[in-house]
Amino acid sequence: MDRLHWFPQPFPDESLYSLAVRYHRLSSNDSYRRTSQELFGAYSRTCGSILPCCLGALSQRLASAYSVEHLIDRFTLLPLYEPFLNDTKSKAARIAMTGTDGTGLKMSLGLTASGFLKHASFRYCERCVEEDIQNCGSAYWHRIHQAMGTCICPLHGEVLCGTMFPDGTDWRCMLFPAEAAGSPVMRAPDSSAAVIGEMQFWGLEHPADVQNLLTGNFLQHRLDEMGFLKAGRVREQVLRSFLTPRLLCSPRANEFQELSCSWDWVLGVVRPRGAVVQPLKFYFLCWLLEADLEHLKSFHPRADASSGEAARGNDTRPLIEDGEIEARREAFSSSKNAKCHDKPGYQWLYRHDKEWLAQYVSAHPFIRVRRGLVDWHARDAALAQDLLIARDQILSTQGKPKKVTRAALSRKVARSHDFLRVPDKFPISTLLMKDILESDHDHQVRKIRWAVRHYLLSERSAISVVYRLAGIRLSHVTDEEVLGILSTV
Ligand SMILES: [Zn+2]
Repeated sequence: MDRLHWFPQPFPDESLYSLAVRYHRLSSNDSYRRTSQELFGAYSRTCGSILPCCLGALSQRLASAYSVEHLIDRFTLLPLYEPFLNDTKSKAARIAMTGTDGTGLKMSLGLTASGFLKHASFRYCERCVEEDIQNCGSAYWHRIHQAMGTCICPLHGEVLCGTMFPDGTDWRCMLFPAEAAGSPVMRAPDSSAAVIGEMQFWGLEHPADVQNLLTGNFLQHRLDEMGFLKAGRVREQVLRSFLTPRLLCSPRANEFQELSCSWDWVLGVVRPRGAVVQPLKFYFLCWLLEADLEHLKSFHPRADASSGEAARGNDTRPLIEDGEIEARREAFSSSKNAKCHDKPGYQWLYRHDKEWLAQYVSAHPFIRVRRGLVDWHARDAALAQDLLIARDQILSTQGKPKKVTRAALSRKVARSHDFLRVPDKFPISTLLMKDILESDHDHQVRKIRWAVRHYLLSERSAISVVYRLAGIRLSHVTDEEVLGILSTV
């Protein structure tokens, strides 16, 4: 195996591909094939990838000046993904990148399924190019610029350019940034894309901190703070209502268009259930939930009950004054809410005074008041009574008689809703109702009696006049009955 006689000194956040380009150009090699052979001892098809392989061979050629772990951690984007991987997937990814066969690597990290790859490009920041030439003597490819969804340079806040390699070639033409034409990946700088870019950059540089965010359930905590959790469950309707307008304000770049058309992916990030969460989705969701880099940096996971003391040993939170603890305990214990979760300050005490909270909760168990079964019989009897009273009220109404109808009765009794909804539960009332409803005939008789009294009609009055004054158009009474009523006055 040939040792490399020289290798470029890495610049800050430089990608492995960028090191290969600089090696290629400074060695004046005539083809990528030759450069790949020298660096990797083989023709690597993944040198331009964000997750390149053949790193074991490169480490050996560098006489182990850089271990494989170091090459992966400092010059590839695996550290951005690693907090979202379980141990098995993480080890498998490192083994794949050490070896020569990277087949299936992007698939196993969920990149292939994410739909982001089709929007990937070799990106650079024009300001970075200028400054790097000035400070380092050469432009170089920055690792963070190649991360999915990074559209704004975290250092300069400028829109990144995507490289268009000449004449259908690709990264194998080994160009420096801005040597081929580039086009902006979004129209104008966008504060949301900038925030997400900053968070991704921080995540790439601080994978252990991101791991803490995930094990400390940062997103759950954030959802809880914003009132999107109830008893530990996501209030999906409320969350959807909040996210829908915010998704419309997503950065106007292709990767985000994959995410902004629906909110379905959000619950998959909150509850991954074993699937690999794409870093971009995680940081984008943080932005959707109005969190920025400072929120991520200042997050302190809730102490685990079993390792409470150990966790407190490393706790850098400001000390809480005893007075505040007392006030919180007082507000909590004096609340009339029966459920501890609903008492004021539960979340605060859970984080800062868990031991006391646990004692309080165990001393005040929540006893669910089991409501007795509904006594439908009693309700039926009460309703029947109410119906009779209502009937009497209608019959004794002053002025022209009102008809005793089902609607008129229902308006006057309580529980009419139950009565209409579950009539089977009210057998007495149902029978009674049939009995007390007034027929057209009986109602007209009452109207005629009222008209006779009200207008002082006599036997000499014409029947048509009686009908008109009683408000009867279509008669349900006989002439004899009318005459009978007139004669009794
Ligand atoms: Zn820049």
